[in-house]
Amino acid sequence: MTGAASVEPLDPQDAMRYIGGRGLNVARLVREIDLDVDPLSPENVLLVGVGPLDGTLFPGAARVNFTSKSPQTGILGDSNAGGFFGPELKFAGYDQVIIRGRAARLSYLFISDDGVQLLPAEDLAGLDVWETQSALLARHGRRAQVACVGPAAERGVKFSGIFCNLVRAAARTGMGAVMASKGLKAIVVRGTRPLEVASPEEFLALVKALDARILSHPEYKPRVALGTTRLVSALNAAGCLATRHFKTGRFEHAAEVSGEALAARLRVKGKACFSCTIPCSRFFEVKSGPHAGLKSEGPEFEGLAAFTSRVGAGDLEAGLATLDICNRAGMDAIATAECVSFAMECFERGIISREEADGLDLTWGNSDAVRTLVRKIASREGFGDVLADGVREAARRIGRGSEDLAMHVKGLELFMADLRGLKGYALGNAVASRGGDHLRSEPSFELTGDAEAAERRFGAREAAFRLEHKGKGRVVKHFEELCALADSLDACKNTIANMEVLPFDDAANILRAATGLEFDGAGVQAACERIVNVERCFLVALGIRRKDDTLPKRFREEPMPAGCGATSGSTVALDEMLDEYYEARGWDVATGVPTASTLRRLGLDDWLGRLEDRGVPQIRQ
Ligand code: SF4
Repeated sequence: MTGAASVEPLDPQDAMRYIGGRGLNVARLVREIDLDVDPLSPENVLLVGVGPLDGTLFPGAARVNFTSKSPQTGILGDSNAGGFFGPELKFAGYDQVIIRGRAARLSYLFISDDGVQLLPAEDLAGLDVWETQSALLARHGRRAQVACVGPAAERGVKFSGIFCNLVRAAARTGMGAVMASKGLKAIVVRGTRPLEVASPEEFLALVKALDARILSHPEYKPRVALGTTRLVSALNAAGCLATRHFKTGRFEHAAEVSGEALAARLRVKGKACFSCTIPCSRFFEVKSGPHAGLKSEGPEFEGLAAFTSRVGAGDLEAGLATLDICNRAGMDAIATAECVSFAMECFERGIISREEADGLDLTWGNSDAVRTLVRKIASREGFGDVLADGVREAARRIGRGSEDLAMHVKGLELFMADLRGLKGYALGNAVASRGGDHLRSEPSFELTGDAEAAERRFGAREAAFRLEHKGKGRVVKHFEELCALADSLDACKNTIANMEVLPFDDAANILRAATGLEFDGAGVQAACERIVNVERCFLVALGIRRKDDTLPKRFREEPMPAGCGATSGSTVALDEMLDEYYEARGWDVATGVPTASTLRRLGLDDWLGRLEDRGVPQIRQ
């Protein structure tokens, strides 16, 4: 990276085919890189993309996508964050930033109305996320927005993320490690340009109608009160809360570490991302005890369960203190918690000794040991270095049967729900384009119990029930497309996917009013399908097939233990759901490769030759 920058206009055809954010990023990524590129080499690129509604009054259009080839998984790297960074990039006049090469010394990018500058950042080396943000805001003013990496990324922790507004993390798939490999500590943006939409009156009327739908939705009040943290209690009641590394689905201390306990004891006030109708985030403060003085924003459900139920610890404040260390170091809390809880199960089974664990007593619930191990991972010190490349690589290094205990798909660690109790989520994680990931589909419809709607929409009454397999292929396909829409608008999934308040026709109307481009509902849905298929083609080109669309052995073969209510005795029958999913997608059922007719229908003919060149024989059929 030399600091040289050039600007090109956004191609309206690309905007209609891929919408923005995640879609435009992946479309550009596969054009920019040699697919076999080493993710941490200068030849890899890092894309920063925002959606066409970012910075407008559209509710929750606040997000920003970071996309690259992942150093953690070796496949697609893509992660997004809310807060205020995305809109600011739009105010500076940019839809997408493409970062190539490697800076000769530690640097940061400063993007403003006047252009892009590469500035020295050697004085920021080793600073944590909060310290970095403070230092850069002091330099560029408090109206600037900062996306930065912490010390973990500088030390090459493969699951390090890019953090905006302190704790708004694009945490997954190691985008922080890619940014650090480019010699970049941060991106600072300050934009003051006016943002205009094509048809202001129509746009405002559509946004008001959407706001009204959100405000009257039954999910509105619970989300304002607790955000996603209510899932600790809800999943525990359903018997599928990740507990002691998925050994069981109920945690005896769930009430003490729940979102309700957090709200009652520690909440200070609510908080929202830019232009959001739902202030689902919170500030909290610990006022007494050994962690007194700890203040932060959040956490989301994943961060809350990460260092409590997943590691068997019933001390809420201790869990939040560990999460704070993880966040400030700039690491993905899901991956970190999996690595730690995996080590604890290996310790319990005698696969690793106390000596190998640097003398730590990794007994379930030992919050002090958990905190020390998280620090060791962040600094790649001792046993922490074994875990710092992710759980798949840790299991490969440790061996001795630990591979069967590593809870990941395609190298990406699984979140805080036990997938034996959520069959649609299980399928979604198995097929997700960035590895084990709930956020590529979030098929929450399976929790509704609305059999009539399930039959009407997905052709199977069972689709509305979390422990049933039938119909889940079609449910996951639909929600994957809603998530692709949210990620490409760079708006919030809480509304678009979970509440389902923006059908494709309405999305097209809003996009037309905002951009003046001739979007229609069918075209928007096709764009979402195209995004999923381009991501799949990228994975197929790298060798991913049906055999890789799987789940850890525990979920497929070990029934959920007794004591977990209706979930007890359950495993995931993946094959049946995969057949249905591939058929719904128009992919070859035997291999999971998109068929030629599907690619042609979506205007992705270029992939036919590209995949054939890479030895994918099925592609011409
Ligand atoms: S619902 Fe929550 S996460 Fe989503 S945009 Fe609003 S405040 Fe942010």
